[in-house]
Amino acid sequence: MENIIVAKFGGSSLADAHQFEKVKNIVDNNPNRRYIVPSAPGKRHGKDYKITDLLYLCHTHVQQGIPFDDVFKIISERYNEIVKELSSRYSHMKDLNINYYLDKIKKDISEGSSSDYTASRGEYLNGIILSTLLGYEFIDPADIILFDEDGCLSSSDTQEAAHNRLIKVEKAVIPGFYGSQCEGQCEKHIKTFSRGGSDVTGAIIARAVGASLYENWTDVSGFLMADPRIVTSPRPIKTITYRELRELSYMGATVLHEDSVFPVREAGIPINIKNTNMPQDPGTLIVSDIKATNTVGTITGIAGKKDFTVIAIEKNLMNTELGFCRKLLSILENHGVAFESMPAGIDSVSLVIADSQIKNKLDDIIHDIKRQCKPDSIEILPNMALVATVGQGMSQSKGIAAKIFDALGKNNVNIRMINQGSSEINIIVGVENNDFEKAIRSIYEVFI
Ligand code: ASP
Repeated sequence: MENIIVAKFGGSSLADAHQFEKVKNIVDNNPNRRYIVPSAPGKRHGKDYKITDLLYLCHTHVQQGIPFDDVFKIISERYNEIVKELSSRYSHMKDLNINYYLDKIKKDISEGSSSDYTASRGEYLNGIILSTLLGYEFIDPADIILFDEDGCLSSSDTQEAAHNRLIKVEKAVIPGFYGSQCEGQCEKHIKTFSRGGSDVTGAIIARAVGASLYENWTDVSGFLMADPRIVTSPRPIKTITYRELRELSYMGATVLHEDSVFPVREAGIPINIKNTNMPQDPGTLIVSDIKATNTVGTITGIAGKKDFTVIAIEKNLMNTELGFCRKLLSILENHGVAFESMPAGIDSVSLVIADSQIKNKLDDIIHDIKRQCKPDSIEILPNMALVATVGQGMSQSKGIAAKIFDALGKNNVNIRMINQGSSEINIIVGVENNDFEKAIRSIYEVFI
């Protein structure tokens, strides 16, 4: 595989001219960074606006027949400021007439352009600016990222179109977040991914060009072993496998768009999460596999979520009753409720359900369980939290579980439930919401 790097830069990395300069330095620093995927300008500070949010707002204004000039002015000023400042430092930027593009976009929005088209213009404009700044070719993802009639990514068509187009180009900027969709007789129009979708674009481009690395530049130096609001200065995670990442992000630790993992994972391309503001930091490397010997006895991270309800059901000889779990689960299905996990004993089973799923439905569900499953007892445990300790090394080492339970016991955390998936890279404990933070701190401290 050639040493091609695809680098995606998030909104905070391109929020103003100063950030653009950092990005230019990073790209110029390594000639292998040949395909660059920008997001739209993000927030410069806590009270600032994201350009994508403002674009959606313009669209809503038009839909409701309200003038959108004031909102568009903020967008226009932001881009003009970026180009003006860059032009004062890079003479070749003076040729860029950003108002030409802005005027066309404003006209399109006023004429009722779709929400997806409108939102995508944030990335489009950043792509125009960045390609001019870097001297890279601009490639419109509408030509290479293709969605099917149902709005799902057409993975193989995209792979073919993107590969054939990009392979001919030495260096290119491809805006993130959108592509195009054909409907009926193929009237092509812009279609976006869900929010944060530039991550997905980066992954698709990395696969299309057969990259050796997908760099995802953001404003943090990778993943931390635990939430810094709970644990003081948690250690960064140097390397993590895709499977571990999935477990941790499911439990709330998110930096990457979920769908961005699939294309690169499938192609065996590692992702490096890097910090545009501290490019020297190694960040976190996400890989398919880690040598077992490097992980024995260690954990990778701890994450968790609050606000679950557990329905604990007991019935004598449950293990011999055919179809018991099917009946139980079809009750949830009929009420449109998904469950998180289902730890079980011989004559008992618990359903762990997020409060957001079960609200206003609990009484009806209990009623149906009593009627259809005829349990001996049924107990409701509200205000529960789940804490997951994740680590590839767990399956190879003895004593990890003992360490976790010992730490929780010593810190007076009552464990209400235990669950370990068959992958053996994850031990989940259920504790009371009140003990959530204490549980995470106790587990972190015993391993670090
Ligand atoms: N700009 C889009 C958003 O704010 C996509 C992205 O940043 O990845 O969601």
